Amino acid sequence: MTAPLSLRELDAIGVDRLQGVGEERRASLGQVEIESVFDLLTHYPRRYVDRSREAKLGEVTPGQEVMVVADVESVKSRRTRNRRSIVEVSLSDDTGSLRLVFFNQAWRSKQLKQGLTVALFGKVDLYRGQLQMTNPLVDLVGDRTGRIVAIYPQSEKAGLTTWDIGRWSTEALRRCERRGIVEPLPAELLHDLQLPNRTTAFRAIHQPNSMSEVSEARNRLVLDELLRVQLVLRLRKMRRLESASGIAHRCDSELLTSFHDRLPFELTTAQQRTISEVEVDLKTEQPMHRLLQGDVGAGKTLVALHALLLAVADGHQGALMAPTEVLADQHYLSLVELAEGLEVLDDSTLMGVRPLSIKVLTNRITGTDRQRVVEGMGNGSVDLVVGTHALIQEGIAFSSLSVVVVDEQHRFGVEQRSILRERGRPDGKWPHLLVMTATPIPRTAAMTVYGDLDVSTLDELPPGRTPIITCWVEDGDDTVWQHVRSEIAQGRQAYVVCPLIEESDKLDADSAESTKDRLSKGELSGVKVGLLHGRLSGTDKQKTMDAFREGRLDVLVATTVIEVGVDVPNATTMVILSADRFGIAQLHQLRGRVGRGAHQSTCFLVTAEEISEDAEARIRALEESTDGFALAERDLELRGEGTIFDQRQSGSNDLKLASLARDRVWVERARDLATMLVNESGSLEQHEALEDEVRWFVERRDDDAENLLRG
Ligand code: ADP
Ligand code: MG
Repeated sequence: MTAPLSLRELDAIGVDRLQGVGEERRASLGQVEIESVFDLLTHYPRRYVDRSREAKLGEVTPGQEVMVVADVESVKSRRTRNRRSIVEVSLSDDTGSLRLVFFNQAWRSKQLKQGLTVALFGKVDLYRGQLQMTNPLVDLVGDRTGRIVAIYPQSEKAGLTTWDIGRWSTEALRRCERRGIVEPLPAELLHDLQLPNRTTAFRAIHQPNSMSEVSEARNRLVLDELLRVQLVLRLRKMRRLESASGIAHRCDSELLTSFHDRLPFELTTAQQRTISEVEVDLKTEQPMHRLLQGDVGAGKTLVALHALLLAVADGHQGALMAPTEVLADQHYLSLVELAEGLEVLDDSTLMGVRPLSIKVLTNRITGTDRQRVVEGMGNGSVDLVVGTHALIQEGIAFSSLSVVVVDEQHRFGVEQRSILRERGRPDGKWPHLLVMTATPIPRTAAMTVYGDLDVSTLDELPPGRTPIITCWVEDGDDTVWQHVRSEIAQGRQAYVVCPLIEESDKLDADSAESTKDRLSKGELSGVKVGLLHGRLSGTDKQKTMDAFREGRLDVLVATTVIEVGVDVPNATTMVILSADRFGIAQLHQLRGRVGRGAHQSTCFLVTAEEISEDAEARIRALEESTDGFALAERDLELRGEGTIFDQRQSGSNDLKLASLARDRVWVERARDLATMLVNESGSLEQHEALEDEVRWFVERRDDDAENLLRG
């Protein structure tokens, strides 16, 4: 066989075929998820040591920042009287010698063994006439030569060194040389994009001759990753368009007219636009698959209800699914309020109409109440149902579900969405789907994570909101509590959000509880303070929320259970304790709980005096902007994409090299390319190698390749 090697073939060659990889090494590599030659070749260097910029020890002058490469001669470790660890290392090259000192890095004595060659970056000082570096950056170079040495992420635990990995990838590349690695993209295209072919790119990223080679190679391989994801999304969308059919709705009805006539406010332009986008979708038999994104308070609920009512007006049902009980209850209340007084046609009644029936279904609803709701869903007497994942439990069926709204979908898996779809209709038609998210997603991330959804954006807040004032204050600053008390005196309410201690409900609950006790006895004595956290029962949570909503509580001390959806316009102060522990998106969501009424609202971000630079950058971002989209972009810059979506979402874990923050241009190119490469009948048949690659990629992820690619 002389055809170039496909990725599928590379993925079928186990690493144990490489020299020096026996059973033990194979297991170690397995621990870092390197099982095949493909895995190894896509285990990319973390950085490079450019030895052309290396200084000789004999030439360095104290005070200089340099990179030197030297051999370890001896390592000593000791502790100071106050238990600080000190590791001292002597090194030399053929021109001189150097002493390293590491403070509080006891593990260095294990890492730096006599005889090792290491690259060091840092400032050189003179100490007792001897060159010395303190806490330098260290890269283990091993015995590797070459002008530029790739440094791999290594694993102490698995006992893998960067030179082991370097050696194996060198060998793997050498053995690929004869056949080459398949290049599925047309040569002109690569030429236009100024990219090397894949064989060159893999070689250059592992064994570059220059740093400019690295960046070209990186671009080629970034495009590879992004293109695979985009192709899958594109094909999935084409499949859905051709295979699924839903219900075509009429969009003019008395129900909708009277809904809009009764609203106490005018729709924003953004709401009008979004509603027409939704209507266009709902008028056709192709099931809607739309993402509705809009900042906190932008008025998404109204758009959602409009979509749901379109279903009801045509004699079908709608469902709204929320990630938590608190949110489901909140949505339920909003829908009931917005839809008050609406009637639907019903021939079985004397007047030919009956009140619109909206029900809530969560795990809190039990016994006969539950039974009644479930029956109503099954026989069609319930028009709209709001619920949590309780909606998708076994034994629940709708009479004719035709519109589904899912709120905060990043908390649900794709699977859960599709269960709701399957349960929806006995006739095999798909309900229309509207996914709402209040976490604004930067454009490139949206293209990757929600790439197969159409996107509507509410980019305008309803008028009459007074912008929230955001203040960063230090722990113990009493102005916060003075402010809370004075707002309460004027009849307003406040939230106090407690630090997230760790991923533990128990600890979070404790901290909320102790904060409540402390405040009630101290700063807020005499104030009616309530407590809300995830470990309370559903009923207790609801009681507390009701009490707060009805003004029977002045202050609600809570964990992040209030993060989304809670809507009490009379609450004007948000105090976030240990604000440095929260991410930008979360702080923005929390802040969005206030500023919902006509009164001026304030958000206090409380932290210790000293916080990390990153935390400071996040808090400054919140102080400077209230625009969720701007904050999302900032968040992407500061933290990378990993935190934006959850691992199960397509896209995130398929990207080893590409970064949605750094490679925006390539995300867009990949998307355009995918649109160009997939033909009108939704296939890649003119691009055989690419088609095979997508099939392999999808199979590897255990997705249903057959469904995606036929032929
Ligand atoms: P989101 O879910 O996008 O955060 P909501 O749908 O909860 O926002 O709306 C926030 C508040 O604004 C609600 O009290 C809602 O009734 C109100 N609202 C929605 N649309 C408008 C509008 N066009 N004009 C005035 N108020 C509106
Ligand atoms: Mg809302």
